Amino acid sequence: MTTAHHSTSPQAVDIAIVGGAMAGATLALGLAKLSATLARPLRIALIEAHVATNTHPGFDARSIAIAHGSIFELTRLGIWPMLKHLGTPIENIHVSDRGHFGMTELNAKPLGLDALGQVVELAKVGSILFDELAKSSVQVYCPAKVTDLQPQQDGHLLSLDDGSQLHCQLLVAADGAHSVVRQHLGQTTEQIDFQQTAIVANVTTNQPHQHWAYERFTQTGPLALLPMLNMTALPAQSQESSVQIKEASAQLKTSAKGHARFSLVWALPPAQADELKNADKTEFLAALQHAFGHRVGQFVDVGQRVSYPLTLSYMPRPIYHRCVFVGNAAQTLHPIAGQGFNLGLRDVVGLLDVIEHALIQANGEVDLGDSDIVHQYLAARQSDRDNTLRNIEFLVRGFSNQHWPLVAGRNIGLRLLSWLPPLKRPVAQTAMGWR
Ligand SMILES: Cc1cc2nc3c(=O)[nH]c(=O)nc-3n(C[C@H](O)[C@H](O)[C@H](O)COP(=O)(O)OP(=O)(O)OC[C@H]3O[C@@H](n4cnc5c(N)ncnc54)[C@H](O)[C@@H]3O)c2cc1C
Repeated sequence: MTTAHHSTSPQAVDIAIVGGAMAGATLALGLAKLSATLARPLRIALIEAHVATNTHPGFDARSIAIAHGSIFELTRLGIWPMLKHLGTPIENIHVSDRGHFGMTELNAKPLGLDALGQVVELAKVGSILFDELAKSSVQVYCPAKVTDLQPQQDGHLLSLDDGSQLHCQLLVAADGAHSVVRQHLGQTTEQIDFQQTAIVANVTTNQPHQHWAYERFTQTGPLALLPMLNMTALPAQSQESSVQIKEASAQLKTSAKGHARFSLVWALPPAQADELKNADKTEFLAALQHAFGHRVGQFVDVGQRVSYPLTLSYMPRPIYHRCVFVGNAAQTLHPIAGQGFNLGLRDVVGLLDVIEHALIQANGEVDLGDSDIVHQYLAARQSDRDNTLRNIEFLVRGFSNQHWPLVAGRNIGLRLLSWLPPLKRPVAQTAMGWR
């Protein structure tokens, strides 16, 4: 879907977003909503290399947990109402440590909430967001790849692989972990290789999930199960309309008894992950049952297994001349705490707030690439990014270690959380992405 026109002279826009997956697409929709309130609408371009199909790298077979705080922000941006019917609420989270006594629960009810978060399938989210973008004021270049960019005093000149060129005042890099924008601008990241690979798959159990999510820390790495809708009766993803999904999911939500679908993320040493990814179904299910135990009954089926090497990469300063980085382009996290998009969305909301504030102050006439705007974004994101990254590194290192003082410490920590309910609130709030 290329909605913008090719021309020989560069198309001038206020803001160009490179990458239209979760971060880029939500930012573009947020900007379009903001623009609709202005006397002079913003000229917004979104460039995405892939159309929303099963092979899209950002909207793939993954399911992700969107925290309560992020649902609040997505609602404010007008996006969650479009996605709500795809969500499976997480009402309780069970955290345990395999082979040790530590375990705890986080529950929505005592916190006065209906859910701690919602699980959504990215492939389905992608087609809905792109349908909405097609109806919006955003100029969508898709499929189109940014192949070159030249920083200029008053902006950036972007060249796309379809031969068109764009000139923008502000460039937003939302192009993921291997950001082409970052490479062109010669910016580096700090990297931590956890020596783990995550196997991601949908699994079926012989008991209903009752809206529980599970996080289990094992000797080899963490294992997470997120509850999902039983969507097997849905038509092929490419043909389904959101109305069809809505009807089918409502029906299945009430009829799903006796078994459940979960989205599995299982972090393992790379060699073991490779072995299990290629193991036959029975062998894989037996290994999973052994690692997880019987808290969700018996694992009876597993879908396609995909693997992701787990590294944490992080730009200490996610800005450049007339350029900001958001989402995975700015930092790519370990999926242990389900924080990647939640943190990416806070980048998006942080940028939207800075832009809105600048527009109000300047009565709508503002150069969006102004150094003040770029630096205000940096300042607004600093402490949240630093804290989240520190916590995740601590969790990964702390829970993948069998050294006894750490084992004792983390088990006592988990047990303390169970014994002292008031202590749970800050933990739950962090898990839910509250600021
Ligand atoms: C196994 C796993 C489980 C996860 N679970 C959770 C979870 O429970 N909760 C959570 O919050 N997060 C989770 N995450 C993280 C979350 O999925 C990501 O943080 C999020 O999807 C990243 O979105 P993004 O838009 O920043 O980047 P990406 O998804 O990487 O998107 C980048 C986009 O840029 C496009 N692009 C790249 N180069 C170019 C170019 N030159 N021109 C044009 N377009 C380009 C790509 O096609 C792509 O669409 C998980 C991640 C993994 C791997």
